[in-house]
Amino acid sequence: MDNKPLILLVEDEEGISNFISAILTANDYSVIKTGKGGEAISLTASHIPDLILLDLGLPDMDGIEVVKNLRKWTAIPIVVVSARGHEREKVEALDLGADDYITKPFGSAELLARIRTELRHSNKNTQAGGAEAGSITVGELRIDYEKRCVQLEGKKLHLTPIEYKIIVLLARHIGKVLTHDFIIREIWGPYTNETQTLRVNMANIRRKLEKNPAEPKYIITEVGVGYRMAEEV
Ligand code: CA
Repeated sequence: MDNKPLILLVEDEEGISNFISAILTANDYSVIKTGKGGEAISLTASHIPDLILLDLGLPDMDGIEVVKNLRKWTAIPIVVVSARGHEREKVEALDLGADDYITKPFGSAELLARIRTELRHSNKNTQAGGAEAGSITVGELRIDYEKRCVQLEGKKLHLTPIEYKIIVLLARHIGKVLTHDFIIREIWGPYTNETQTLRVNMANIRRKLEKNPAEPKYIITEVGVGYRMAEEV
């Protein structure tokens, strides 16, 4: 019997592919590998992996197209692997339904943390109501959804309704990066361009939330992409 989570690794560079699969195997994951986008789609259908690690630069098709195809019929978590500086393609992949990204070069600790987060989220989503716990605590930060109350070191934070909504949105997706567009859509609705407003709100939130707003611990900036609430501080 084998209950190890199964990861589909889609990476055409052999060195990187071997490096990643060695890390995964050593950490009790089962791995299937391919270097092609078309094969990634058919292997997903035939093996139903628990998670897909997807390089965006593939020889036969664009990784973005793979995300688009997969999201038509499956919600299996997708973590895209992308080169440094390719912010726009990461944002596109996330907006098309990828769950997170990791930038090359990365270390094994970062890779494993991303995978754990995604597997935890997808397990929660399959348990009825599991993701809707009444409160969440990270370090000294506590958010009580029912009382609509955010506390830091036991003291209530005075937040505007918009600031509260932003914090709750990030907390509901804790550990995951949310793109600027996603946050704006969720808070202000579609067909708006509130990029500057989001930035101003985030600055205000950090002033209230972070000891040193220039080096935030709770809400991390993903440069050119969006924001992520840390699972641990
Ligand atoms: Ca590649």
